[in-house]
Amino acid sequence: MFLVSSSWAIDFCGVHPNDTETQSIFEYRNQLRQIEISNFSLGTRQNTLVTIPVKAHIIDDGTGVNKYDVQILLKQLCELNELYAQVGMYFYLIPDINFVVDSRYIFTTASTDDTEKLLGELLFHYYQPNALNIYYTLGTGVCGMAPFPSWSTRYEGRTGVLMEANKQCAGAGTKTLAHELGHHFDLLHTFQGADLKNPLYHEYVTREQGIRNCESAGDGFCDTPADILDYSCPYTGSAKDLRGAFYNPDVSLLMSYHKDVCQYRFSDEEIAHMREVLYNDPYRKVYLDNQIADFDGIDSTQLISPIGKDAVVPYGEKFKFQWTAVNGADAYLFKIANIADKVYFQSIVKNAEFVEYEFPAKEVGRTYQWSVIPIKFHQPCSVSPTANRFKVTTPTAIGNHQEQSLNFYPNPISAKSILTINLPSVLQSNGSPIVVKILSLNGQVLKEETLSAPSSILSLKLDESLAAGTYILQLSTKLQIFQSKMMVIGE
Ligand SMILES: [Zn+2]
Repeated sequence: MFLVSSSWAIDFCGVHPNDTETQSIFEYRNQLRQIEISNFSLGTRQNTLVTIPVKAHIIDDGTGVNKYDVQILLKQLCELNELYAQVGMYFYLIPDINFVVDSRYIFTTASTDDTEKLLGELLFHYYQPNALNIYYTLGTGVCGMAPFPSWSTRYEGRTGVLMEANKQCAGAGTKTLAHELGHHFDLLHTFQGADLKNPLYHEYVTREQGIRNCESAGDGFCDTPADILDYSCPYTGSAKDLRGAFYNPDVSLLMSYHKDVCQYRFSDEEIAHMREVLYNDPYRKVYLDNQIADFDGIDSTQLISPIGKDAVVPYGEKFKFQWTAVNGADAYLFKIANIADKVYFQSIVKNAEFVEYEFPAKEVGRTYQWSVIPIKFHQPCSVSPTANRFKVTTPTAIGNHQEQSLNFYPNPISAKSILTINLPSVLQSNGSPIVVKILSLNGQVLKEETLSAPSSILSLKLDESLAAGTYILQLSTKLQIFQSKMMVIGE
């Protein structure tokens, strides 16, 4: 039983300090308290909201199958800010999101490699100074890993968090990132010491003065009940501490291992300590350098092309996906996903409201959906994406909104005359019904006829009631539109 829960634990979080490391964490806390006292400023800081810059790195192996969805990243940061409101911390993205193609840091099966070594290498290869660096990769074998402040010398002061990108760890509603950031700000697990052999760090359940050891054992806090490594919620265990008292853990604490759905808070002592670390740790107080004050959200966008339930995109040529501009957007997340919403292609688009994307031939016949989310780097909470499905087709079936011009005569034409249209060759062999329309310039249909058996030339009698002016002559099939401007003149 112990072995089962032990391996589960490693799956959850890669931060398991041993006795020596635990000792160094308590020493670090004592030193920090000396700095804090000499600064005389703890009291003035307690209620201030502080903003922390996050540099996100998304590691990809370049094969196109291991992409972490930026939409999930945004959602996760949004949820993180809800959880950290109680701490008075707000996390915002600094541009840009760093897409790293480096297969050395992607594992296709759960790796038993040392995750701290993996994070250490990432910190040295891809790093933004003065920011909290978060690395999303796959197959690490843990859900997350974050070194304690007292370990900073191992990385020459570089700070970061390693996150497993799979949805069980980093999906919506998961608490992994909030938990790992707890470690980042020097919080230990609430069950710290319960699984160590050294009774020095074994926390007693009792809070009775003279007997309790909560200040110097366990996680070092007295307002977090002694805990054991346990996943139940509500707690159903019957374990006892070394003095024989039954554990009665608080399953709502984010630094426990009780289920994610039950976790939502830090204790007052934990919060005070996290803020103490943020203000005094030499490698974390740099986050305070650039405070932001604008937390406003932004509107959603509207998709322009391709849209509609019969939308199609041809393979083998650059196709333009277009959407409307949104005020205040720093960028747009453009995403093509399969029906199960797994990312096929994503890109952060700046200074444009379109993407040109070319599908390979092997995608013909497959259905995808494309979506766009406006991004404001200071406000990770995004509105719901606007999405539209489409089918990848052969190039002859051109998308609804791809227009081609039409060859017809005479032009200008009198409203009483017969119009002759040279049928585009692609329609001649097609045999499908053709709709002929005359539209006003603002899109109002003034005349419409459906022709079932088109030959190479189409003749059309205009409507005598058409006033002199400019119109749009349009020929369309289910998949194609051909149109050109037509000028009607008086007698
Ligand atoms: Zn942990």
